[in-house]
Order: sequence, then C-alpha cells, then structure tokens
Amino acid sequence: AFEGLTERLQSALSGLRRKGKVTDADLRDTMREIRMALLEADVDYTVVKKFVREVREKAAGQKVLEGLNPEQQIVKIVNEELTMMMGDEAVPLNQSKKIPTIIMMVGLQGAGKTTTAGKLALKLKQEQNARPLMIAADIYRPAAIDQLETLGQQIDVPVFAMGTDVDPREIVQKGLAKADELKADYVFIDAAGRLQIDEALMQELADIKKIAAPDEILLVVDAMTGQNATETAQGFNDRLGITGVVLTKLDGDTRGGAALSIREVTQKPIKFVGQGEKMTDLDVFYPERMASRILGMGDLMTLIEKAQKDVDEKKAAEQAEKMRQNTFDFNDFIDQMDQVQNMGPMEDLLKMIPGVANNPALQNIQMDDKQMDHMRAIVLSMTPAEREDPDLINPSRRRRLAAGAGRPIVEVNRMIKQFNQMKSMMSKVMNGNTGQMEQMMSA
Ligand code: GDP
Ligand code: MG
Repeated sequence: AFEGLTERLQSALSGLRRKGKVTDADLRDTMREIRMALLEADVDYTVVKKFVREVREKAAGQKVLEGLNPEQQIVKIVNEELTMMMGDEAVPLNQSKKIPTIIMMVGLQGAGKTTTAGKLALKLKQEQNARPLMIAADIYRPAAIDQLETLGQQIDVPVFAMGTDVDPREIVQKGLAKADELKADYVFIDAAGRLQIDEALMQELADIKKIAAPDEILLVVDAMTGQNATETAQGFNDRLGITGVVLTKLDGDTRGGAALSIREVTQKPIKFVGQGEKMTDLDVFYPERMASRILGMGDLMTLIEKAQKDVDEKKAAEQAEKMRQNTFDFNDFIDQMDQVQNMGPMEDLLKMIPGVANNPALQNIQMDDKQMDHMRAIVLSMTPAEREDPDLINPSRRRRLAAGAGRPIVEVNRMIKQFNQMKSMMSKVMNGNTGQMEQMMSA
C-alpha cells in the first residue's frame, strides 16, 4: 500500500550503503531525503519535524553496533522511530467490567464505519464466542440501515433498527435496552457520518455519547484521504474524546500519511486496520509490523540482525534438541511461532532459508500473519496433554478444536498434517539427512 513512500525511504537509506562510516554530512543528506519522502506521503508537518530530530539525536548518540554496516544502523533507528511514532505496541479494545461493552463508531461518511462494525462483531464472535448487537443509528441515509441489516444477516449478528423517522438518540436508548434483554456482550452503535465535520453532527454524536457512555469511541478513518485524515481525527478527538482509531482501506493505494501521523497528533492508539472489503479483512494494528511494512525491510541483513536479537538462544538450542529427537510438540510450535512473528513477515523470513530463495517450487509459499493467527487459535484450543502429545488428537478432538478455534475442520486437519510433516523433516535435517530434505523441497 505504501509503494511510493517505501521506495523513497529505501532510496534515501541506500545512499549510506557504500560508506565505511557515516559522517554528519551523510546523515544530514539522508535525513533531508527522508523528510521529503514523509512530507510527500502526507505525514503531518510537525510529526515529520519531530521524527527527523529524534532520528538525528539517536544516530548521533548511537554506539556502532558490531556487525551492522552504516545503512543498517540507520535503518534500525528509523524503524524504531517509525514504530514509536505509531504507538510502539498493539492496544486492545477497551472492555467494560460488566456487559455489554459499548462501542460507538464515528467518522466521516464513507470512511467504513458500518463495514468495520460488522468486521469487528464477526472477529469478536469468532475469537471470543461473543454475542454482539449492532444498533442502526444512521437515519440520514435509508440505505445505511439496509446495509447494516444485510451485514448482520451475513455474519449472523442481530441488528436493532427503528427506521429513519426516529431520533437517533431514542434509537440508541431503545437499542441498549434491547441489548440487555438479549444479554448481548458487545454493542456497536453505527452512528451517522457527514462528508465533513459539522456542528449538527457533532452535537448528535455528543448526545449519543452521553446517553450510551461508550467504553470505546472508535474513529474510523479512510487511510486514502491523506492529510485530511489527520485533520478529521483531530476534529473528532477535540470534540468527542475518541478512544481509538481504525484505519481503513490500507489495501488501497495510500501514501501512508494517516498511519504515520494520527497517533502523534491525537495521542490515541490506532487499534485496527481494514485491509479489504470482505468481513474478514480486519487486523489488529501492530506498530512494529506496520513500520517494517512501510520501510519494506525484506533486506536480508536486517532480518538476520533482528533474528539474532529476538531468538532466545537457549530456547532455540532446546528446540533443536527436540527436533533431533523427534519430540517437538505444539508448545514448541507456538514458541517458534512467537519468535517468528517478532521477526517480521513470514515470507521474508522464508526467503532467508538457503535453498528457498532460488527454488521455484517454493517461491509461492505464502504464510501470512492471518494464517499464523488461525494456526495459533487452533493450538490454543488444545488441552495441555494434546499439545504435548499431538498423536492424541483423534477425529473427535479435531472437531472440538475446529469449534474452539472457529476454524473449519479441514484447516485443523491440514495444520496437523503440516505439523507432522514439518516435524519429521526437521528431525531428518537435524540428523544430517539432508538428501531427504532436498527431495521434499523440490517435490
Ligand atoms: P460508512 O459510511 O463510514 O459507514 O462507510 P461504509 O462502511 O459504508 O464503507 C464505505 C465503503 O468503503 C464501502 O464500499 C466499503 O465496502 C468500503 N470499505 C470499508 N472498509 C474498507 C477497507 O478496509 N478496504 C476497502 N477496500 N474498502 C473498504
Ligand atoms: Mg455507514
């Protein structure tokens, strides 16, 4: 999504590649280019200024890290600062102490409020077995209510609606009573939007806030609107005190400005990102992963450097021993997955493995974070005994795991099959039987 920005940042940083040592002048040139790249990507001006200053200070105070060339040193700092700028760590949804947790969706028309309410409701259903209710409080566009009702049917979540002739405040009040009656544990208020922030809208939203006392006011922002997105966020935050942001349409050709500015400007966390029109296209926002994505760090050395930092060596040695003895189990599997996820995109990581990068049969391996999350959900549904002894997992247990993880049974079967294949392959590799591995790799 950030092609332009990624390219500019990489080109700025590559200027340092052949330097034995980075002089002040080199750093100044690089930072000038980075500054231009960010401004062109619609990052807020004051945010850019702060970013550049902080990278400079860090670079000046940085001790030369062994084994890293000057480009990698700066890439590391830039990556860390980009991550910080977007909030450092993922922030979960606020939770009410007693049900229901009330989530109010606000934002301009077309930003993705209704769609995101549906996506989030589905996510909560799948991950927590939640029973959400969605309230149709956008009465200004008749199609908006139909849209929410259609979504509700699609994901099997009830929708409370009273048509377009009732005041939204009353709809919310009655909707909350309905939620109590249904014992819903999450309520989504799909509030109205406008093309621009205006006083009538803000007053209505402020009233709804007062009535519903939401645990979460999620501002939904279209990432493709660039600089406007930041201003919108500021406007809504000043007036309503938002609690979090959802950035939508990150699957589109966005320049990146919104992702990079909103947190700094509002001091409110980006919690989720929408990456497509399908109901499953919503992901938790991880600042570090987003920074890597923006920087496009497929770079081998960077990955190695991160890998060295992240992998707990002792654990790795233990796991290697288990692989050798063919006693690797699902607990180790999850540990490994954690380590891998800390390192960045799986595809990049796979490319580091000798033999994978140039093997045409393996070029198309796609293991995205979503898939990893699904696998994790399946493993987490296992009992400790099952994790330690995968052979226990018979067909009826598989059905239970599928239900527990909210994944189809074929996926559970496939994962266990892959796990067993991987286990046997690893054991062969660890015992020096690499001929077998080559056979499998080229199969
Ligand atoms: P609302 O007016 O804020 O409620 O916006 P909607 O939920 O109706 O969304 C407006 C349009 O944006 C719809 O066509 C959605 O399908 C689309 N949309 C929402 N989120 C995303 C996203 O993350 N990616 C893409 N590609 N489209 C999205
Ligand atoms: Mg809507």
